[in-house]
Amino acid sequence: MPTYDYKCDACGHAVEYFQSMSEAPKKKCPKCGKSKLVRQLGTGAGILFKGSGFYQTDYRSDSYKKSASADSSSSSCSGDTKSCAANGGPCAS
Ligand SMILES: [Zn+2]
Repeated sequence: MPTYDYKCDACGHAVEYFQSMSEAPKKKCPKCGKSKLVRQLGTGAGILFKGSGFYQTDYRSDSYKKSASADSSSSSCSGDTKSCAANGGPCAS
């Protein structure tokens, strides 16, 4: 299972999550509680999300949602119903 690096756009808190490929990206910052987490595209990739970078992340999230809903309608919720709903997961409906 790959590790994803996230950084909070609000408070700058950095955190790592183990996630499956079909799992919706995390949004909620565990430190400040705001839905400002931005997933980093791997360490050493040379891509930094600063300023307008979040547009790219939003685009990625959209395609992620589509593939996630196509893949599995019920198994992408990890039990965190709040972030699940916030990410358009099965708990949103
Ligand atoms: Zn934060």
